Amino acid sequence: MRTFPLQLMRGFKSFRGAKAKAGSYQHSRLAIDGQKPEVLVIACCDSRVTPELIFSADPGSLFVVRNVANLVPPPTHDDRNLSTAAAIEFAVTGLHVRHIVVLGHARCGGIKAAVDNVDGQKSTSAVSRWMNWLPKTVHDDAHNHAHDHDFHDDGEVLTRCSHDHKYRAVEEAGIRQSVNNLMLYDYVREGVEFGKLTLHGSWFDIEKGELWVMDGLTKVFHWTDGVDFK
Ligand SMILES: [Zn+2]
Repeated sequence: MRTFPLQLMRGFKSFRGAKAKAGSYQHSRLAIDGQKPEVLVIACCDSRVTPELIFSADPGSLFVVRNVANLVPPPTHDDRNLSTAAAIEFAVTGLHVRHIVVLGHARCGGIKAAVDNVDGQKSTSAVSRWMNWLPKTVHDDAHNHAHDHDFHDDGEVLTRCSHDHKYRAVEEAGIRQSVNNLMLYDYVREGVEFGKLTLHGSWFDIEKGELWVMDGLTKVFHWTDGVDFK
């Protein structure tokens, strides 16, 4: 008990205090009614990219699975990658979510590892092996979309350095790949085809606090401040 992180104990104390002050204990209702989230978010483990904070989401409203670089590997017939697949399966077939959002982000360490090892040198590290789920074709896709953000949506010329630009292009290509891979899961594809499920890609700029949402047709990411969404 004494070794439990003090930071977490203080945070929990604050959490309990805020709940008591509000005069209601939302979790007791959630425990009785069960969870009915409408959105599955597939996000990175990165501590700077917290879906519940970014989307101001209350407990029970987002079903979240996090892994390194927010990857959705294609379905397999062996026991690899069951964690992410199990979360997707439960969200779609058990909770009947209406949306799946792949949330990528700037300065992703997993993507950086993949970009810096584009030659595919063998490594025994778990991160390197996990990032092998990102196919080499994402680098071609990133190249094809390399000029997507030469201009901001409002016409402002972006001044990102080429270094950032290179990683960002692959971060976005990885999100496109994950959204494509979702369609390889039978229950996801059926949900989309029957109009019960919609897939989305998004990218969070940590430094600027910006959210970019992928256009479903062009696959290009556009900046949004959320105002246009009702
Ligand atoms: Zn990341």
